[in-house]
Amino acid sequence: MNNELLTFARNHVWHPYDSLKEPIPALDVVRTSGTTLYLSDGRELTDGMSGWWSVCHGYGHPVIISEMEKQLRRMSHVMFAGLIHEPAAEVARRLSAMAPPDLNDVFFADSGSVAVEIALKMAVQYQESRMPSRKRFLTVRGGYHGDTLGAMSVTDPGNGFAGSLGRYIPEQIFISRPGIPFGAPWDAGVMDELHEDLERYQDEIAGFILEPVMQGAGGMYFYHPEYLRAARKLTRDYDVIFICDEIATGFGRTGEMFACDYAGISPDIMTLGKGLTGGMISLSAVLTGDKIREGVHQSSARALMHGPTFMANPLAVSAALGSLKALESYDWRTRVHHIEEILKRELAPLSESPLVRETRVLGAVGAVEMRQPVHTAAMQAFLTGEGVWLRPFGNIVYIYPPFVITDEDLLRCVRSAEKLIRGMEKGVIRGFRE
Ligand code: PMP
Repeated sequence: MNNELLTFARNHVWHPYDSLKEPIPALDVVRTSGTTLYLSDGRELTDGMSGWWSVCHGYGHPVIISEMEKQLRRMSHVMFAGLIHEPAAEVARRLSAMAPPDLNDVFFADSGSVAVEIALKMAVQYQESRMPSRKRFLTVRGGYHGDTLGAMSVTDPGNGFAGSLGRYIPEQIFISRPGIPFGAPWDAGVMDELHEDLERYQDEIAGFILEPVMQGAGGMYFYHPEYLRAARKLTRDYDVIFICDEIATGFGRTGEMFACDYAGISPDIMTLGKGLTGGMISLSAVLTGDKIREGVHQSSARALMHGPTFMANPLAVSAALGSLKALESYDWRTRVHHIEEILKRELAPLSESPLVRETRVLGAVGAVEMRQPVHTAAMQAFLTGEGVWLRPFGNIVYIYPPFVITDEDLLRCVRSAEKLIRGMEKGVIRGFRE
């Protein structure tokens, strides 16, 4: 874009979690293709972030574009109250077929955060005819579920996403993060805290929500799937609604289609987003089964009290249809395991750096946990100079590539992260926050 417009944007357009007065410089993207971002100054960056964890099949996948083009010519948005259309019905049918058992019903929404709001409302409405005092939520530390009020309330305030909003946000009940890492020996004793709080707050708790197996924005932490199996049993014993937020983990990212599949469990509610449209356009879905259908019907409203204007937007559900077809068109599981092997092999040596606390890999996610919070702007400047798009946050430098990335591009991402950390060791790069 021309300089005048760019200057206007720099001065007037907000960016995520950033100051409008002193923003981290935003780069001018003019085109995307495959795993590459093309900038207006001629630079090309390999995207190791999958466009914030959503572009699983790469940018501009032809099958997604084709479904969207067909839809654009057929019909624009129509309201969803009292109307249905084929792409919505088809995506719902496909989702219920691929989801864990008993999740046969689908509510379409606009974004991940809104899907979480809906899941929370469903749990409260479910409890109304059983124990109406149940209006709070239990969740684990280290979690992230979105930026709307309900979603923020079940996000760990320690993650910093709530800023100083404090009592503006409803108060929920937090227990320790699932303590046993993925791959470590299981110890059933870690479930005592959940059991105790379900017992103690049983008159208040409508539901228990968490991200299955991988906590994303809370630091790319992977935990033992047995935790989910035990939580499934406990929540059932107390008739507390079990919500698994698969917005980041769904559609193969962790190596299984859904992270719940590692534990072989079906939650009462599952939220999906991000990769649902292959990152092409915003759409989310809330999957439920008979329990929620019956419970909501028994509430005084009888209906679920949610209905967004752009519910099941035909263009967005067509993108989802394209993305689900794209997922079927190649062996994503083998791709994800291949990426996992490369990330494991390449990141492991970094764990010996004095600046690094730990390296972790699961599926197509590789994280380097630093000992101190990072300076995102300084790191971004260095990494873009290396030709890669990685966006470290908190104390995490991580790689979250599209499944279709070539080995060469993946290695460029890893080597750039390595060069960054080695440069910091030598004191040439100031990558930590002052
Ligand atoms: N839940 C999880 C687990 C997420 O990772 C995110 C987004 N990072 C959200 C919810 C919120 O989704 P959205 O940004 O689409 O509102």
